[in-house]
Amino acid sequence: MPEAQRFDVVMIGAGPGGYVGAIRAAQLGLRVACVDKAPSLGGTCLNIGCIPSKALLDSSEWFVQARTKFARHGILCDGIRLDLAAMMARKEAVVKGLAQGIAGLFKKNNITSVQGHACFRDPRTVTVTARDGTQQLLQADAVVIATGSEPIALPALPFDGQYVVSSTEALAFPAVPQHLVVVGGGAIGLELGSVWLRLGAKVTVVELMPRVIPGTDAQIAAALQRALTKQGFSFFLNSRVTEGVVHNGMVTLTVENDKGVQNQLQADRVLVAVGRKPYTAGLGAEAIGIAFDARGRIVVDRHYRTNVPGVYAIGDVIAGPMLAHKAEEEGVALAERLAGRAGHVNYDLIPNVVYTWPEVATVGLSEEAAKASEINYKVGTFSFSANGRARCMDETEGMVKVLADAKSDRVLGVHIIGPRASDLIAEAVMAMEFGAAAEDIARTVHAHPTLPEALREAALAVDRRARQS
Ligand code: FAD
Ligand code: NAD
Repeated sequence: MPEAQRFDVVMIGAGPGGYVGAIRAAQLGLRVACVDKAPSLGGTCLNIGCIPSKALLDSSEWFVQARTKFARHGILCDGIRLDLAAMMARKEAVVKGLAQGIAGLFKKNNITSVQGHACFRDPRTVTVTARDGTQQLLQADAVVIATGSEPIALPALPFDGQYVVSSTEALAFPAVPQHLVVVGGGAIGLELGSVWLRLGAKVTVVELMPRVIPGTDAQIAAALQRALTKQGFSFFLNSRVTEGVVHNGMVTLTVENDKGVQNQLQADRVLVAVGRKPYTAGLGAEAIGIAFDARGRIVVDRHYRTNVPGVYAIGDVIAGPMLAHKAEEEGVALAERLAGRAGHVNYDLIPNVVYTWPEVATVGLSEEAAKASEINYKVGTFSFSANGRARCMDETEGMVKVLADAKSDRVLGVHIIGPRASDLIAEAVMAMEFGAAAEDIARTVHAHPTLPEALREAALAVDRRARQS
């Protein structure tokens, strides 16, 4: 074994937590190595998560637009067909380009990028084993675990990689399924279900809870379910899969609801998307005494310190929403702390987006959460059907909902379902970060005609002052 290479920081994992944290640490003058076992940088998000799913969502939405919506704009297209291979190739090119971008950033910031599987030898030393079996030792004062997460499997329906699959395979089906059953009506299920529905599959969602995207403001989640039902989705709510039998390329599923009523579904593909769990396989974290909680997450304090001095953890492997931007912010905050500065993540204001169409984007308290906390609140809503730009775009489905404190008028939550909600939410997050009142948003000049005017109108509606545009 060669002598250990020394660094200030070793990041294990080059996902949004690890690579963003590595870049920030290097910018602040620390000597940084970032290890990833995958050949392509960027982690789950870039390679098998956020980016490929959004590439397919964008492509498949164009397909639907061309087939069903262009005619309303007076654009007549005949013989529109799907070239799935080209769609997949574009998705892969997007991923490859962005991964190369990270490699370029590593180079520019003098970050040592190491490919191989990392395993703790002791709290300050990791052994990295490359695919060809060669090993090297990396040593640092701070070792950061940013190893992410993996899909949760269902005992009644284990993954087989072909017919019963996780999101990874569902991002690359070789052909459009005839009937895709999606188990789990959360972000992955509804996004990837949307992709394949738009491309021609029949899609059925089996969800354990009485509603989709549990935890999201109930009014907005109900509106999304209505919109998706109109598009052709079928839903079995309050239901679980009790048995799955794969035979001759078909999966027969037994679905049971909370009243014990059973249904049988036949599908050629089943996507199981019932959540993800922290990934620490082969890391040797237990051997150095790292503490885990009951859900397998690494326990950290508010400075991302584990119970083992010198070892830190960020991203999907610790508690909190499993979101790329949450992991990124933790990477930045930790890097700043390691460099002797102050770093902080505002966990109350992490936006959550579901990239269906219409999109759903939320930040802050839902109406149910405000009620449960016995907060006295006011609500303002505004429909995109009354927004001039949405009408020009012919995208009038959806609404903006603003919750504000009844006394102080401070914005408590913003919930959007509608066109480009993913982009619109940024203004709400910024306003809330600065402690804005609904009136602050209402009095901010918004360009006309634009979609963000719907947020301003919802803020005005908090005081019953909304106008129709
Ligand atoms: P990861 O991105 O999982 O990165 C961990 C890295 O560590 C991996 O590259 C892995 O190879 C490496 N690794 C693990 N163990 C070792 C080891 N022992 N040695 C070396 N390397 C190791 N989030 C959003 O915010 N927006 C979205 O639109 C979104 N869409 C998603 C769509 C899908 C289909 C999926 C699956 C997830 C999506 N997510 C989305 C979630 C997002 O991908 C994760 O929250 C994010 O990637 C977590 O970042 P991370 O850095 O903690 O871990
Ligand atoms: P999720 O937690 O978002 O949704 C899982 C869904 O499955 C929930 O609605 C849950 O009630 C349901 N469920 C659980 N057990 C079930 C069972 N036995 N039968 C039927 N339904 C069951 O998880 P996900 O969709 O798998 O996504 C994993 C993670 O990735 C999430 O943390 C999510 O935040 C993240 N992600 C984010 C985005 C985004 O930000 N747009 C996109 C994809 C994934």
